[in-house]
Amino acid sequence: MSAPAPKLAAAAAATRYVSTRGRMPAARFCDVLLGGLAPDGGLVVPQAYPRLTAEELAALRPQSYPDLAFSIISRFVDDIPVADLQRLVRRAYRSETFGSADITPLQTLEPGLHLLKLSNGPTLAFKDVAMQLLGELFEYVLRREGRTLNILGATSGDTGSAAEYAMRGREGIRVFMLSPHGKMSPFQRAQMYSLQDANIFNIAIRGVFDDCQDIVKAVSGDAAFKNAHRIGAVNSINWARVVAQVVYYFKGYFAATRSNDEQVSFAVPSGNFGNIFAGHIARMMGLPIRRLILASNENDVLYEFFRSGRYRVRSSRETAQTSSPSMDISKASNFERFVFDLVERDPVMVPRLWREVEDAGGFNLGETPFWQGISQYGFVSGRSTHADRLACIRRISERFGVTIDPHTADGINVGLQQREKDLPLICLETALPAKFADTIREALGRDPDVPPGYEGLESRLQRVAVMDPDVEAVKTFIAARTN
Ligand SMILES: *Cc1c(COP(=O)(O)O)cnc(C)c1O
Repeated sequence: MSAPAPKLAAAAAATRYVSTRGRMPAARFCDVLLGGLAPDGGLVVPQAYPRLTAEELAALRPQSYPDLAFSIISRFVDDIPVADLQRLVRRAYRSETFGSADITPLQTLEPGLHLLKLSNGPTLAFKDVAMQLLGELFEYVLRREGRTLNILGATSGDTGSAAEYAMRGREGIRVFMLSPHGKMSPFQRAQMYSLQDANIFNIAIRGVFDDCQDIVKAVSGDAAFKNAHRIGAVNSINWARVVAQVVYYFKGYFAATRSNDEQVSFAVPSGNFGNIFAGHIARMMGLPIRRLILASNENDVLYEFFRSGRYRVRSSRETAQTSSPSMDISKASNFERFVFDLVERDPVMVPRLWREVEDAGGFNLGETPFWQGISQYGFVSGRSTHADRLACIRRISERFGVTIDPHTADGINVGLQQREKDLPLICLETALPAKFADTIREALGRDPDVPPGYEGLESRLQRVAVMDPDVEAVKTFIAARTN
């Protein structure tokens, strides 16, 4: 019933991290917290996933969100004193920040069909759940080490604003966030650009998201500049973000079931594979998850893999701009972590596969023995189009009187296709509809509700520097503000 853990040793008392490409000396949580890629180009993963006993799982069921978060996260952190970690977790998960003491409340649409509401944080998308904790952890570790950090990122919407709201006003941290000028929704733009905190810098680039991304790569790739200006990142491969997301799978499971011998499935709108990978970890820890249902949009890199074993990255020309834009991916940056498990943690296999990605644009595990093992991990997948999305938004509105956002609609659409009789289905709500008013209008012929406190957001004073896609100009801007 609980997921098998092939060749993965039980976690030792100490938690150490290794790279999926096998060439990083074992490191501790705080060593990997501020970093991006491992030095060998791989992704950081724990040496083993902690396995919970039936007694441990039973003890978690009645816990409040902050206590549950501490119980789970502390299994992955052994270099922050317990009392400090507890304090950081409590500060990250307050009802004032997330609108309720449940932090991620479960809404039952009908018996056996639930919505896990992850989007009641400051930027109305699930990324707040991880980012709020990251803000606390970054500030704590930087202060302890007497360091400062300048976070540089590119965003097409949700990540950048979640990072800014998590880092605003924090000691020792500045955020420089690049976004494509005029390309985000008016609501998303207002969310970011209306921040007046002195440590937050918005840079709108006259170009598309890829131009922003290229500038970030160029600036971070300049080692001298990076060191001189203490440049860091908070992108979706950040290990602490993944760990923070494991918590709400437990929370959703306990809220939807009465006892720990019941199983549930989760439907997850997916892009960079961070959210659903957290579900994989929860399952490997022994949470009784039957299926992890992965929903792609038109950019169906992951759907293709889980159907066939073939992973084929797309060019930016092949990547469509859709009405669920946070799932518009050409490759899935966290996916390497899952493949590491799938190839039984063979440290030679992963670098070989990613060399094929570099050389040939992908790889095919479909005809290898590893593919035989895929079913034990519980993944199934499906794909939604713009028309499916609109139909799902309408259907959920008509049947339950609930308005969902376009990403959540992709998850519910695929979730309902894969739903099994008598098995509870928990659909993750990854954003609120207020962020995507155009699509809601198209589906329902009316505007989405604006949550309390966000009225008039779009008419607040905005603070943004508009620049050409020019690496040197961006460097000059950063240099002038970091010394
Ligand atoms: C980021 C995001 C996703 C995709 O999540 P991944 O962790 O990248 O798979 C889905 N929906 C929304 C609203 C998002 O912001």
